[in-house]
Amino acid sequence: MAHNETFRALVLNQVDGRVQPAIEQVETSALPEGDVLVRVSCSDLNYKDGLAVTGQGRIIRNYPAIPGVDFAGVVEESQSPRFQPGDKVVLTGWGVGERHWGGYAQRARVKADWLVALPQGLSLEQAMGIGTAGFTAMLCVMALEAHGLQEKATKRPVVVTGATGGVGSIAVAILAHLGYHVVASTGSTDAEEYLRSLGAQEVTGRLANPARRPLESERWGGAVDTVGGETLASLFPAMAYGTSVAACGLAGGSEINTTVMPFILRGVNLLGIESVYFPADRRPAVWERLARDLPLDVLNRIMQIVPLSQVPQLSQEILKGQTRGRVVIDVNA
Ligand code: NDP
Repeated sequence: MAHNETFRALVLNQVDGRVQPAIEQVETSALPEGDVLVRVSCSDLNYKDGLAVTGQGRIIRNYPAIPGVDFAGVVEESQSPRFQPGDKVVLTGWGVGERHWGGYAQRARVKADWLVALPQGLSLEQAMGIGTAGFTAMLCVMALEAHGLQEKATKRPVVVTGATGGVGSIAVAILAHLGYHVVASTGSTDAEEYLRSLGAQEVTGRLANPARRPLESERWGGAVDTVGGETLASLFPAMAYGTSVAACGLAGGSEINTTVMPFILRGVNLLGIESVYFPADRRPAVWERLARDLPLDVLNRIMQIVPLSQVPQLSQEILKGQTRGRVVIDVNA
């Protein structure tokens, strides 16, 4: 049996019904069960982490808890033949940072099945620059491709909504790298230069359909939606015949008000994207695509690396749509 170690973590406690984050010393004996103990180097900040750390959205049910849905680090102990001490590994999803203690800590213990070997060509920081957000962006692109994106988007552009966010920024960069004409839709008024630097050919404001027209002229050859609500509803009437919307987010609302017209008369597809329980055996292929189709210079530009102590403040900001690109958390700083 391994010896007990003390490590630093961002712990959430519930005090008088309110969630309070604090940096605390924790012992490895307190970690949940799992066959691999990882010395975490870095984590990241996703919209869901913002919900967890601020106590909104009921992401975490049992306290105390360590949030952080992603982490990257080095295997310290392993009871699994798949991993040896010293191996570099990445984890995204699987309810880690929700039901299972997560990545905002110097140690994490998880099931080996949840880990992926660090993809070749990526550093641990870059893997977290991608994280759940980038993984989801790639799932959106792959889902659109599986529904004929290459053919559908020859004459019309692909639109990405919530484009300055984590998922949105990486989706713009991947699609532009693949040669698509990308229109970035954003509510941020000062983001044009940023979005063009990721490869967007056009930048437009937040999309809306105040007149609630069931069909409009066919504008989009494909869409990645990270916003939901009104924005998602406004995409359907403007999709070209036989095209698809990959929807992954709800930062702008979870209800959609739409008619069936775009689906019946234009054969539009709504593709729901879910990254948390995406099958383990298909994950390496997604990471391989990320290593290939997300230019590293763009990734390095959209990442900021911050210390663990900044997580509570940044959690407030991500929920207001105020963070740009990807936030990587250095758990040792
Ligand atoms: P971010 O906060 O980084 O990005 C969301 C972006 O949406 C904002 O930057 C903003 O971009 C835009 N936005 C539009 N309306 C609002 C609003 N009312 N409040 C806040 N932001 C708004 O989050 P992520 O990129 O990490 O995640 C985006 C969405 O995708 C979230 O809903 C998240 O839960 C979901 N998600 C889903 C996954 C899945 O597996 N299905 C996995 C990962 C994320 P702008 O200013 O450019 O318009």
